[in-house]
Amino acid sequence: MRIPIREVTPSTPRAEVYGWVHEIRDLGGLAFLLVRDRTGIIQVTVPKKGASEEVLTTVKEVSRESLVRVKGVVKAMAKAPGGREIVPDLIEVVGAAASPLPLDVAEKVPADLDTRLDARFLDARRPRVSAVFQIRSAILLAVQNYLSAEGFLQVTTPKVVAAATEGGTELFPIAYFEKEAFLNQSPQLYKQMLMGAGFERVFEIGPIFRAEEHNTTKHLNEATSIDVEASFMDHAGVMHLLEDIIATSYQTVAATCADQVANLGLTDFDVPKTPFPRLPYTEAIEIAARRTGGDIKYGDDIGTAAERAIGEEMREHYFITEWPTAIKPYYAMPCEDDPAVCQAFDLMHPRMELSSGSRRVHIYDVLLKQMRAKGLSAESFSFYLTPFRYGMPPHAGWGLGAERLVMTMCDLSNIREAVLFPRDRHRLVP
Ligand code: ATP
Ligand code: MG
Repeated sequence: MRIPIREVTPSTPRAEVYGWVHEIRDLGGLAFLLVRDRTGIIQVTVPKKGASEEVLTTVKEVSRESLVRVKGVVKAMAKAPGGREIVPDLIEVVGAAASPLPLDVAEKVPADLDTRLDARFLDARRPRVSAVFQIRSAILLAVQNYLSAEGFLQVTTPKVVAAATEGGTELFPIAYFEKEAFLNQSPQLYKQMLMGAGFERVFEIGPIFRAEEHNTTKHLNEATSIDVEASFMDHAGVMHLLEDIIATSYQTVAATCADQVANLGLTDFDVPKTPFPRLPYTEAIEIAARRTGGDIKYGDDIGTAAERAIGEEMREHYFITEWPTAIKPYYAMPCEDDPAVCQAFDLMHPRMELSSGSRRVHIYDVLLKQMRAKGLSAESFSFYLTPFRYGMPPHAGWGLGAERLVMTMCDLSNIREAVLFPRDRHRLVP
């Protein structure tokens, strides 16, 4: 019976494993195969004297990255990976790999990111790469468990929509029968409507589509958003929820993905301490101006250079709070005492923005006014606005980029490494 390679120990008498041929070495009297599955690597040692004709032929002819089935006796071997080896009585090629390989899985030949992404199925055979996706899976599961335990309903909302969330031109138009439609840039409007439905607490983990033409290391054209909306909570409440979720994700990864963390070489994997500092927007701007020497001023967006400068000063996760109403979306609630400032926040990792959120406008007239102020036509949003006329509770929420969370947690230099098959300006295949 097949067992995972990791479970073969020096005291296992016999084992049958399936794995890919990682390396082949011929030392004259002895031949070695290193065989790898997702759990580890094992040495298969073939003494040329005493091995069967079939085993010898297979070892001679098998190509790297072929899938093989190996059965044999397990022996302790201090110098081999995991301190054990298999001396096989059977090696069967289950799936032969063609040569040459589009990518060297053993990483003897370094490959650039484009080559790796073109041959992603081979790239993902690398322990370092598969570790990223095991960690990603652990994070998403931790988030789901956390939110379910807090009474959040998991929902899925349409990705094919008729109107933009925030206006602007960052939408992918698609042909939808005789109508024009778009790929949704955010579930924002739908999760707010569900507050009107009385669901109280919802979350969605799903794709968002942004047609921005940027080509950066932190933007994708199709990303995954962890979206939360909660009634009867204000921005302070959902900020607390957000920092707790970040800390829980790190804790879960530390507790359940120790091997993956080691594979990624993350030697100081620290769970961020909560609460995260709250940095008012005005102070953030001051730091950016001081550190960059640039002319950033009140009312400006915080761009990449500013973001980096502030991150260098903060050196931990932090929130930017008290944003000018003018540079946040129409659905962010202005402060009662100063409507030029709104109850919005961004969650920042020292390297980049991870999440944006706010307390929302739940009052129909205010929402209408703010939409018009941003030049949006209320008519095309009537499906969204109507629920606000029938008992909309006060509510707040945020959207957290899953890839940015994975990227910053795993210390990846490019967001494309945090998604299996990235979509960017130039990449539509595979
Ligand atoms: P940025 O200013 O960094 O481009 P944003 O403010 O436009 O981000 P939001 O609309 O606030 O993004 O979306 C909420 C979160 O979703 C972001 O903080 C980010 O983590 C993630 N996100 C948004 N757009 C992208 C994208 N193009 N690629 C990857 N993640 C994204
Ligand atoms: Mg944002």
